[in-house]
Amino acid sequence: MPETIFDKIIRGQIPCHRVYDDAFTLAFLDINPIAPGHTLVIPKHAAVTLGELDDESAAAIGRVLPRICRAVCAATGASQYNVLQNNGPLAHQAVMHVHFHVIPRNPRGEHRDEAGLGVRWNATAIDHAMAGQLAARMRSLLSP
Ligand code: 5GP
Repeated sequence: MPETIFDKIIRGQIPCHRVYDDAFTLAFLDINPIAPGHTLVIPKHAAVTLGELDDESAAAIGRVLPRICRAVCAATGASQYNVLQNNGPLAHQAVMHVHFHVIPRNPRGEHRDEAGLGVRWNATAIDHAMAGQLAARMRSLLSP
């Protein structure tokens, strides 16, 4: 897997505003925040997409994410936030090392409402025939 800027941050070769650090995970402030306190949470063991992440790193990320969300809110005064996770260029992933964005939504100040993060959700009505086939296929892929 090609190196990314996040590997250099993990090794301390590039500085960051560190928020949390343990054997498996690192959290630090995004260099181009959507809102003050915008934090990135990454596994130290690199994988490009979430689906490629090993179980140990996945469990470690799952354990710390809610704690980091609480810290982001407590530090910024936000009570609401988005957790975003992009996989692949089509899904707007720019750094090819799994990461979660924790983005506080603060009703006060310049980053209120959609000023920082706009989410357009072009939903359509479900096609039940196709949905049934897809769900059955996923169930069989996931069955032990
Ligand atoms: P993606 O679009 O891949 O989900 O988001 C990658 C994020 O990494 C972006 O929000 C970008 O600002 C952030 N980022 C890229 N390079 C650096 C860096 O060198 N330091 C920090 N702290 N964040 C970075």
